[in-house]
Amino acid sequence: MSKEVLEILEERTQKLNRVLGSINGSEKTPTIIAFGGIHGNEYAGIAAIKRVFERIENESIPFQGNFYGVTGNVQALTEKVRFVNKDLNRVWNNETLLENKSNPQDIEDFEQIEVYNTIKDILQSNEGPFYFLDIHTTSCHTDPFITISDSINNREFSSNFKVPIVLGIEEFLEGPLLTYINEFGHVALGFEAGQHDDPVSIDNAEAFLWSALLAANCVDKNAFDGTENLQGSFTCKRKMKCFYEIKYKYTIKEDEEFSIIGYYENFQRIRKNEKIAFSNKKVVRANQSGKIFMPLYQKKGDDGFFIVSRISSFWLLLSKFVRSFKMHALLQIFPGVRASKDVDYALVVNPRTARFLATKIFHLFGYRKKIFREDKWYFIRRDRKISRFI
Ligand SMILES: [Zn+2]
Repeated sequence: MSKEVLEILEERTQKLNRVLGSINGSEKTPTIIAFGGIHGNEYAGIAAIKRVFERIENESIPFQGNFYGVTGNVQALTEKVRFVNKDLNRVWNNETLLENKSNPQDIEDFEQIEVYNTIKDILQSNEGPFYFLDIHTTSCHTDPFITISDSINNREFSSNFKVPIVLGIEEFLEGPLLTYINEFGHVALGFEAGQHDDPVSIDNAEAFLWSALLAANCVDKNAFDGTENLQGSFTCKRKMKCFYEIKYKYTIKEDEEFSIIGYYENFQRIRKNEKIAFSNKKVVRANQSGKIFMPLYQKKGDDGFFIVSRISSFWLLLSKFVRSFKMHALLQIFPGVRASKDVDYALVVNPRTARFLATKIFHLFGYRKKIFREDKWYFIRRDRKISRFI
């Protein structure tokens, strides 16, 4: 990286508060890293992280392990916009930038390098297990929910929270931060706390953080008042603790005029063929029944809406079973499926000979992400060995 770029980075780091707070407690493990404001119009995470640090300090709450709060897109937060040049939560597949092979071009490139270096420092100077928490808010009104990549360690940790858990998001979004972190085997949960400007979203985000610290045994529930009812303190209309899977995403194209018809709450039931939105004044209908998920009510962003459906407990148990016994090797006995020569977590699938194998089978065995390259599908396994970094 050029001297000029290093100087700019240095100057920005001094000016901006990248690390919101840090605690090194009585034990060496675990280490919790919470992000707020990866999107600059979402302040709830920042406010909640600050509240938790303040309370730990003011009440001298005994703490085991380490806890860090990290600011996301500082510049976009200052300008109160989702992002300045590009979405900081869609850039984590840009390996050339992270490996110092290209120079930063715009604001978000600088933001990404700083966030990356901060994570790297934390990983190198602390003991695992590491739990990454990324707090967001949505443009629509919603009860809080969690999004995860579909790995068994993510499922287990997210089961500590009485909110809906949506898995499989990594198949529909390119380059989110948590998917990138998951590739190194760490637990990584996204928490959507509610609507952007609703003050309740901060309360929800705070309840989520305390619940995470309790679940990771960083704080003892007897150590301070108010934790008994913490799980109940998420402001949910419906208490739904179940797993959902993303079935469909409507992507808004460049220059497309898109608006949702009427008002949908998150997780509201929709029927097949229901009129959902206008795209360039033409009606967009639901291609399947299910629940509408994250309908877009803001200008920036290109995910129009998603459709999710509930996953049965049987499927969850079965997939846990086949993954625990590392039965994924079995998939290679099917014609047209072979192990990748380069990495041990990918399968190469010939779409012609393996046509009969449904994507659902790959999901069951823990292969979520699909990449199409040179006439072949590459299925990437979500459960990974822990490697410190990056
Ligand atoms: Zn967000």
